[in-house]
Amino acid sequence: MIPYGRQEITQSDIDAVVAVLQSDYLTQGPAVPNFEKTVTAHVGVKHGLAVNSATSALHIACLALGLGPGDYLWTSPITFVASANCGLYCGAQVDFVDIDPHSYNICPRSLERKLAIAKKEGKLPKVLVAVHFCGQPCDMESIYILGQKYGFKIIEDASHAIGGRYKGELIGNCRYSDIAVFSFHPVKIITTAEGGMALTNNDFLAAEMTLLRSHGITRNPLEMTHATDGPWYYQQIGLGFNYRMTDIQAALGISQMQRLDAYVWRRHELAKRYDTLFADLPITTPWQHPDSYSGLHLYVIRLRLNEIKKTHRQVFEQLRELGVGVNLHYIPVHIQPYYERLGFKLGDFPEAEKYYAEAISLPMFQALTEEQQYVVFDALKTTLL
Ligand SMILES: *Cc1c(COP(=O)(O)O)cnc(C)c1O
Repeated sequence: MIPYGRQEITQSDIDAVVAVLQSDYLTQGPAVPNFEKTVTAHVGVKHGLAVNSATSALHIACLALGLGPGDYLWTSPITFVASANCGLYCGAQVDFVDIDPHSYNICPRSLERKLAIAKKEGKLPKVLVAVHFCGQPCDMESIYILGQKYGFKIIEDASHAIGGRYKGELIGNCRYSDIAVFSFHPVKIITTAEGGMALTNNDFLAAEMTLLRSHGITRNPLEMTHATDGPWYYQQIGLGFNYRMTDIQAALGISQMQRLDAYVWRRHELAKRYDTLFADLPITTPWQHPDSYSGLHLYVIRLRLNEIKKTHRQVFEQLRELGVGVNLHYIPVHIQPYYERLGFKLGDFPEAEKYYAEAISLPMFQALTEEQQYVVFDALKTTLL
């Protein structure tokens, strides 16, 4: 079965990890800050905090922005559940904004309409999580302008988008956001096994997230409430978590970062070949924004079901039977049973639901070969025609 996504591990990755295993520090050594420097220098942002997952990064990002009970977090229904769950972790309420039918990202017009209503009802969001779905950047400029007008903070969930660009600048530089988050799960563009990073240009947010990442403990005398008791001394000045990344993971991340640009370039090459091969099939291939360079974490097709004699599910199952490890990103978060118990229901976000009824993620990863792309194409032809 050709998987939909897969990491690539080279000998240099292995050597980098082994070097840490043979060193003095498995965690809290030099590799983590070096990984942070590698990423921040690459994307052009002031601070980067490596953590044990993007989910943890989203959680501490929300807390640093002051999200809590009585507040609202808004996000897209077409995302991994973590983009919404982070709001619930903080005791806030979550709501969604429907997607744009071309980009599959949060639709700025729906957002504006919903904000106008929320303002009248006194229910404006404190935080908006903008998800760069498939690596395609959201319309950040419009979202930023709305953020200024309505006073919400912006987190970019860039779990799919490291290496991509928006209006010529690298995703993660936080030009239009307070905090951006990357994921380094093995299916993503580069990996540290588990891992994530929170990026920001804001010194206060970086300091808050640094505390939250490690129990709320500081060793910086300037942050302490009184003079230190001695060289052993540390203070817990807030309530934090153990969300730290290990040096083993960070070493893998540094090594993988060397290939980031080549990886994204390769994904574009693969996408172009798919686009050409699929030109005559009854499917809609991914739309690319002219101002953007997608990270291309995923290549999602939509079935034109009125031109196909099978159901979405039948097509999906047949592709798997033919050895193509297709997947579906994502089941709209608002129709997950947990969210239905919070009051959401089918019909709430029609564009997201329509998308879910037609979408299939095809194999897309750096080591995918041209031959495998033909296997995918043949399977699609057999299934659809
Ligand atoms: C993968 C993913 C996450 C969570 O990432 P982890 O590192 O596995 O916690 C969050 N948001 C989106 C959009 C993702 O794809």
